Amino acid sequence: MVSQLPAQSAHLVKLAPSGQVPVSVVSNLQSPRSSPGRRTLVPILFAGELGTYIRRLLGHLAAKICALLRPVLGVAGVTYRDVALSPAMAQRLASVGRKTLVLDLDETLVHSCYSDAEHRESGNCAQLPAGARPDYLLSVSIDGLEPISFQVYKRPHVDVFLDFVSKWYDLVIYTASLEVYAAQVVDLLDAGRGMMPRRFYRQHCRASTSLVTKDLTLVSPDMSGTFIIDNSPYAYRDFPDNAVPIKTFIYDPDDTELLKLLPFLDALRFTKDVRSILGRRVNSLNSAVSGSRI
Ligand SMILES: [Mg+2]
Repeated sequence: MVSQLPAQSAHLVKLAPSGQVPVSVVSNLQSPRSSPGRRTLVPILFAGELGTYIRRLLGHLAAKICALLRPVLGVAGVTYRDVALSPAMAQRLASVGRKTLVLDLDETLVHSCYSDAEHRESGNCAQLPAGARPDYLLSVSIDGLEPISFQVYKRPHVDVFLDFVSKWYDLVIYTASLEVYAAQVVDLLDAGRGMMPRRFYRQHCRASTSLVTKDLTLVSPDMSGTFIIDNSPYAYRDFPDNAVPIKTFIYDPDDTELLKLLPFLDALRFTKDVRSILGRRVNSLNSAVSGSRI
């Protein structure tokens, strides 16, 4: 579907898998183009216990370097590079107008859980891996009651994601969570950059059952230029042509879902009416799901 859209102004860059680093070091040393001195040196270096020690040392160094570069290169070795717009693309963008991207918060941009011991039974932080380290710790008092402690885990690549999409769209947060909690989390994510000034909370949702839906007309009356990214299909039940589904995030340091959306979102801003694209996307997903149930 992306190929049917106007040309993109950016592309994915694949980097070499980190596991190949020590292998390439060894093969370079053993290259047939090596000098005679190097040819005699290599068997000595890699023979016996000394060779084992050197191989382990190289492997250890490679692992350390990969760990240091991981936040820069991305968990899966995939990153995204912005490319300047051509005059024709800039003209096209100006003619279709800047659009509004509505972002869900929990399980889309972050995952939060109770860190208090008494809440552990209700299935929260205790379910995460022992080595999981939260990005933020919050203490939230609801209705004047005793404060509740939360751990907040950012979805991998959320900072890069927000940097890109805030250049392309007007960002709005629309969450079913309570304002007293969500406002703090969004402030932390925003980090004073002013990317998400407009926010809608639980009180702005519709709730006929225990599940809530979101009313995108509160965000903007123009449905041709407004869409939401939300992990809950029920949230955009009333606006299926204005939604981009995303996998639910709980805790996964290798998650790349936000990064994978960037090429699509970069292209979508060039369309006149997002529904002409997103209607096909959601409907095809629904067909696939219903087809699999038959
Ligand atoms: Mg959610």
